[in-house]
Amino acid sequence: MSEHEVLIRLERVSKVFDDGTVAVKELDLDIEEGAFVCLLGPSGCGKTTTLRMIAGLEHPTTGEIYLRGERITHWPPQRRKAGMVFQSYALFEHMTVHDNLAFGLKARRVPRRQVRERVRSMARQLELDDVLRVRASRVDLSTMQRVAVGRTLLAEPDVLLLDEPLNNFQAGLREQMRVQLKSWQYQFGRTMVYVTHDQEEAMTLGDRIVVMRDGQVEQIGEPAEVYRYPTTLFVAGFIGLPPMNFLPARFDASAGRLTMAGAGVEVDASSLRLDRALEEMVVGVRPGHLSPAEEEGADGRPRIRGRVELVRPTAAKTILDVKAEGGQTVRALVPSPFSTAPGDPITLAFEPRHLVVFDPSTKRRIS
Ligand code: ATP
Repeated sequence: MSEHEVLIRLERVSKVFDDGTVAVKELDLDIEEGAFVCLLGPSGCGKTTTLRMIAGLEHPTTGEIYLRGERITHWPPQRRKAGMVFQSYALFEHMTVHDNLAFGLKARRVPRRQVRERVRSMARQLELDDVLRVRASRVDLSTMQRVAVGRTLLAEPDVLLLDEPLNNFQAGLREQMRVQLKSWQYQFGRTMVYVTHDQEEAMTLGDRIVVMRDGQVEQIGEPAEVYRYPTTLFVAGFIGLPPMNFLPARFDASAGRLTMAGAGVEVDASSLRLDRALEEMVVGVRPGHLSPAEEEGADGRPRIRGRVELVRPTAAKTILDVKAEGGQTVRALVPSPFSTAPGDPITLAFEPRHLVVFDPSTKRRIS
């Protein structure tokens, strides 16, 4: 465990809505002080509901929520010092940027002079000085977001909760805003909990990623950890672009070999460090770990032989869909430019140490 104090703890938290929808199931989660935690998962997996329960906008059906060890499960939002930034930003559009920033402070009856000073200082830090007198309805999206974040920060929350705040942005601007969000975390030193369904966003922003599925945590870890050591088939398939290849495999105990018939390749099981040897397994290999090679080679690497089905060049890499001799399509990510065309024969080699193996019945990793 890290040396940081746990700021928020969710203990076996479940949320069942009135219509019977189970949005969150027995969720355990520790959020450490100062961390940038991303809740990541497909639509409907319970990310927003979890965030709203931390904010106090929803209450758990069962389970407890703690803030610095104090039980806050049923506290109203205003008692929690959790600041929520919504996807829509929820600004007062008829008010100026200044008045939006000042709103919460005024409501808390902070003396006028202090309001002015604090709004000015926040505006300076978020580069909003030039638009303080402009109406919120007239500023652009990225400015709106800075206003929303600034307004929330001025309430001095213990934790900043952000629900897909970059959804409205186009790709280029989205990238810029990510950089900015990350730098704000350093600048303001706040704990952040950030909901996204975009793995790239979670990977670039999060110190820790909580991969959720069906209202439960699948895996929690640092970005590199969930990428390199996915503990379930779901995480392995969800994190990484293009997604990991999954090759059904049969284990021949007497020969000590694992055969992936669909890919037309077999490997020595002793190179895989299996926790258990099952008759049927699923072998995962990242597209980036499949590299074009000579058809036969003295390097001893296993080889998948097949024909190119589809070529998708991107700036730095090219994605190849390859129909293996065994009938399965595998995907490889190779450096661009890569000259090939559909129908061309191709051989892909890999290092057995890059393979991850799963139990197809429990869907958990066994290597
Ligand atoms: P998305 O990114 O689509 O918002 P999410 O991971 O944030 O997904 P939630 O919004 O937390 O998921 O929703 C989890 C489940 O709970 C979904 O099935 C959703 O339809 C349901 N749900 C959310 N809010 C309510 C509500 N007020 N009443 C009933 N069901 C709800």
